[in-house]
Amino acid sequence: MDVPLYLRPRVDPPLASLLRAQTFLHSLVDALGSPLNVLLPEVVAENAARFRAVYRRHHLSGRVYFAHKANRSSALVRRLAAEDAAVGVDVASLAELRHALGCGVTGDRIMATGPKDAEFLWLAARVGATVNLDSPGELEHLADLVRRHGLGRVAVLARLSGFESAAGRGATGTRLLSRRSRFGTPLGEARELLSALERHADAVDLTGVAYHLDTTGVEEKARALEQCVLFMDECRERQLAPRAVDIGGGFGVGYVADAEEWERWTTALSEAVLGVRPPLTWRGHGYGLRNEGGTVRGTAALYPAHRPTAGPGYLDELLSLPAPVLGRPAATLLLEHLHDLHIEPGRALVDQCGLTLARVLDVRPAGEGSGHHLVRLGMNAGDMSLEEHGVLVDPVLLPRGGPAEDEDAHEPVGVYLAGNLCLEADLITRRLVHLPRLPRAGDVLAFANTAGYAMDFHAHHAQRQPLARTVAVEPDGDSWRWCPDEDYWPLTHPGGTTA
Ligand SMILES: *Cc1c(COP(=O)(O)O)cnc(C)c1O
Repeated sequence: MDVPLYLRPRVDPPLASLLRAQTFLHSLVDALGSPLNVLLPEVVAENAARFRAVYRRHHLSGRVYFAHKANRSSALVRRLAAEDAAVGVDVASLAELRHALGCGVTGDRIMATGPKDAEFLWLAARVGATVNLDSPGELEHLADLVRRHGLGRVAVLARLSGFESAAGRGATGTRLLSRRSRFGTPLGEARELLSALERHADAVDLTGVAYHLDTTGVEEKARALEQCVLFMDECRERQLAPRAVDIGGGFGVGYVADAEEWERWTTALSEAVLGVRPPLTWRGHGYGLRNEGGTVRGTAALYPAHRPTAGPGYLDELLSLPAPVLGRPAATLLLEHLHDLHIEPGRALVDQCGLTLARVLDVRPAGEGSGHHLVRLGMNAGDMSLEEHGVLVDPVLLPRGGPAEDEDAHEPVGVYLAGNLCLEADLITRRLVHLPRLPRAGDVLAFANTAGYAMDFHAHHAQRQPLARTVAVEPDGDSWRWCPDEDYWPLTHPGGTTA
């Protein structure tokens, strides 16, 4: 085989030491089945602390809200509930709100985002959560509910979208807008929203302005942040006094450890699409790229899996970037105005918080003398959906019974990972994955860093295959303790002993 095109995962401690605990991980899969999700609740608290440190460096106050939709786990939300009041939860459904409350997150530490129905609005208002208003219609609905049910005045944020670019108008005279969003009120229509907020001032209190942009572009976010600050100045000319900017999530995660491996693989993908090297993917899938007369066209629908800055580092970069109109760093603008900063990280807050394990069921040649193999796993593409999110990263092979004596004699191999459904499309990867040796039935593959969207977001009951169980683990001397996710409380160590 040519040089193996690895995309090895970034694993920091304690995830790295958990991956070394191969006997423990095998015993968990033996007892609880495949697939299995394993979470490290302590890491979510450490990540929150890293975000808080960036606030401190910039002398900012405000709250870090965990975007619950990234993971359904109780352990993670309970662990965050045990943090101080500067950490909260962003809920996007009635069920997530009920779950956060049941995990011990008090209403004042909850942000309700996304489109909301009457029940969701009522419970959010009842428990004193902040309602991140998705539309002018939602404001009318909420104000009506508050009056009819005699609820207290509700803190609301105005979620904005459709921000203008720095140029304002492009060379052709067309307005350049940031990416379209189905959510929030377009900035151009926000004046009417302000009038409605004044009209409903008996029922709602505008405490801030919000956005969430699904992009990695830091300049686009800096523009949006500045326009929120300018918009808040306009609010103050009215009878409104918002004092917080909520900049949403999207701080990102670096999945692949090595920049060169990522460069090499993406270059090889283009070459394979052009046909100048053998396919790297199942049936020549191009991840959005195509060959048009010898030129690569299209954009790869891939997450930038190696990222030089992500998570708290990305927040730091955003806050340090000069605002396009006012020229001062975003953090300075916030400080000058005495505004609080709220953030809603999902993926970045659960970075390094867990892994997903799958048993190898069988291994066979992929056919036609390619030298590649098909590895069928005890999981399906819904159970571990990194691929669905365009995140390409290798699993770690955990051989049954530890490394074999003839381990060094093995050669790297290229494999496709297939799922447990009778469905041609059920591939865990459409990419040829290089492993240091051919797996055997009974081995386990560990997918690192799956806690953000890849564990349970797409899980389903097709073919009555078992849903993954989720366990919380914690180091215990030289060993590890575990308990079911639903039995984890921050006062008990996994395993049952009360601290
Ligand atoms: C999904 C979402 C987030 C979290 O996004 P990440 O990319 O996971 O950080 C935050 N806020 C809102 C409103 C969202 O919809």
